[in-house]
Amino acid sequence: MATVGSVTRQIGALDISGPTRAPAPTSSVVRPIHTKQPSQPNVAKLLTKFAAPNLHQGQTNSSNLPPPSSRSGTTQPAIDIGRYDGGLEAENEKRGDVVSGEAADDLALDSSVSRTYPTQEWSLHSFDMGRPLGKGKFGRVYMVRTKAAPKYILALKTLYKSELVKNKVEKQTRREIEIQQNLRHTNVLRLYGFFHDEKRIFLMLEFAAQGELYKQLSKHGCFSERRSARYIDQMTDALIYLHGKHVIHRDIKPENLLLGMNGELKIGDFGWSVHAPGLRRMTLCGTLDYLPPEMVEGKEHNEKVDYWALGVLTYEFMIGAPPFEDRRSVNNTYARIAKVDLKFPPTISSDAKDLISKLLVYDPKQRLPLKDVLRHPWIVKYRPKAAAPDGASAP
Ligand code: ATP
Ligand code: MG
Repeated sequence: MATVGSVTRQIGALDISGPTRAPAPTSSVVRPIHTKQPSQPNVAKLLTKFAAPNLHQGQTNSSNLPPPSSRSGTTQPAIDIGRYDGGLEAENEKRGDVVSGEAADDLALDSSVSRTYPTQEWSLHSFDMGRPLGKGKFGRVYMVRTKAAPKYILALKTLYKSELVKNKVEKQTRREIEIQQNLRHTNVLRLYGFFHDEKRIFLMLEFAAQGELYKQLSKHGCFSERRSARYIDQMTDALIYLHGKHVIHRDIKPENLLLGMNGELKIGDFGWSVHAPGLRRMTLCGTLDYLPPEMVEGKEHNEKVDYWALGVLTYEFMIGAPPFEDRRSVNNTYARIAKVDLKFPPTISSDAKDLISKLLVYDPKQRLPLKDVLRHPWIVKYRPKAAAPDGASAP
C-alpha cells in the first residue's frame, strides 16, 4: 500500500527533464492513480492536483515526457494557477542591465547544456504564467505550468544578472545552481532546469504548495512538540543527504524553508543562499541568530555548522524565538552564542531539551551526529507510525 511518504517520493523521483542520465522512473515505482487508497486523501489530492496526468502511468520514452497521443483523453481537472499580473515584463522594462564580459559567460546558464543532467531546452514561451508567489532579492517568483504535457506546475524564479554581478555573487550562483540541479530528496526543493535571456536567469523550481514555513511560524507563534519534531526529523534526513553530497547548507532558518502539498518540509533557497554565508553580511543584516560559535568567532567551519543551526531551529519552532536572540544589540547575541547561554522555558519537555542541548554544543566535534538525531527519543516518539521520516532512508 502506498504511503503518503512513498507517493511523495515517487513524485519527487519523476523527472520532467529531457534527455538525461538521471535514473528514469520505472513502472514499478510509479503507480496508476486508482491504486491509491481512499483513506489517503492527501495522496489523492497530490496526484490529481500536481502530478503530471500521464507520468504515473509508467513511461518508457527517453525524454521522460509522455508521448503526444497520451495527452488526450485525460480526466485531469484543470489546475488553477491564478492570474498572471504581467509583472515579469513590467519589471524587465525597468530593472537590470545587460551583462557583458566574463560575467556574461558565467551567467549564460542553460540546463539543456548541463554536463550532469541535461534537460530539454526551455524558454519563457514554454510556460503558461500564473499568479505571483513572491518577490526574491534578485527578481520575482511565479506559479507557472508547462505548456507541453505533462503540464507540470512549477515555481519560476527570476534572477537579474546585473544584480548578481553587483553583489559579486555570479560565480557562486552558477556553482550553486549546478549543485542544486543534482540534488534529489523529498525534503530538498528540486531545481528541474534553468535558462536565461539577455538580462535574467530563470530557475524552474519545484512548486511548494503550502508556501513558506516562516509564515506558519509567525501565524502560530510556535509549533507543538509533535509538529516541531516532525519537521526536525525531515530536516535531519535532508541534511544527512546534503552532507553526503558534501553540500553544507550554512543558512538554515525558517525563512529558507518551504512546505509541500502535504505540509512536508522543503529546504529551499540554498544555492542562492548566496545571500548567506559571509559572516560580514550576516552581521550587517543582524541575522546572527543561527550562527554557531565557530562562525561568529571567525574560525574555520565545516558541516557541523548545520548541526548547530538544527538545534537553533528546534528551539525556535517550539519557543517561537531563537535561543540566543538579544534585541538590544548584535554584540549581545554574539556574546550569548559564544558562551552558549542557553535557557529553556519550563514548558519544554525533557526529551526536547536533551536533543537541543546536545546540538547546541560549543565544540563542533561534540555535537550530536545527525544519525543519532534520527534515533533520539524525542524524534522517534513523534515519528508517524508505519512510515520513515518523509523522504527518508531511515537508518
Ligand atoms: P527573500 O528570501 O529575501 O525574499 P529570495 O531571493 O531568497 O528572497 P525566495 O525566498 O526564493 O527569494 O522567493 C521569494 C518568495 O517567493 C518566497 O518568500 C516564497 O513566498 C515564494 N517562493 C519562492 N520559491 C517558491 C516555490 N518553489 N514555491 C512556492 N513559493 C515560492
Ligand atoms: Mg528566500
